[in-house]
Amino acid sequence: MAVERTLSIIKPNAVEDGHIGAIVSRFEQEGFRIVALRMEQLTRAKAEGFYAVHRERPFFNALVTFMTRSKVVLMVLERDSAISHYREVIGATDPAKAKDGTIRKLYGKNVEENAVHGSDAPETARFEIGWFFTGFEVA
Ligand code: GDP
Repeated sequence: MAVERTLSIIKPNAVEDGHIGAIVSRFEQEGFRIVALRMEQLTRAKAEGFYAVHRERPFFNALVTFMTRSKVVLMVLERDSAISHYREVIGATDPAKAKDGTIRKLYGKNVEENAVHGSDAPETARFEIGWFFTGFEVA
């Protein structure tokens, strides 16, 4: 198993609802090492660039509005098979379809306000980590 890194975001709904501690704690229990962590109010430009692959989707504008509504927590997490393990821990995109015990099931409100983001592949993780963190911060 290879050690990987993934970009994690605790989204505005979960920050507003007071779930930062529970979510970070769960990641540590799951064996992730926190390489970098920062709280930030995203600008529209930063959120639009981050979600550029979804630009043509009907929910793009609503998604950017949601992600810039209040602060998010940005993290770089590391462990063996980080990307696939993280996706298992957070669950399906739609909290209503996520398995019991997953973070989206526990803290997500709906398919948009689904509590957390996670990279879906190694190339995406590299882009997403570089979008938010400098080389020095993740060294
Ligand atoms: P993820 O990789 O599981 O986060 O899912 P996607 O990459 O497909 O979508 C990115 C984000 O867009 C999701 O996490 C949701 O916040 C949002 N999203 C996805 N599908 C929908 C949808 O059908 N409607 C709305 N409003 N938001 C969506």
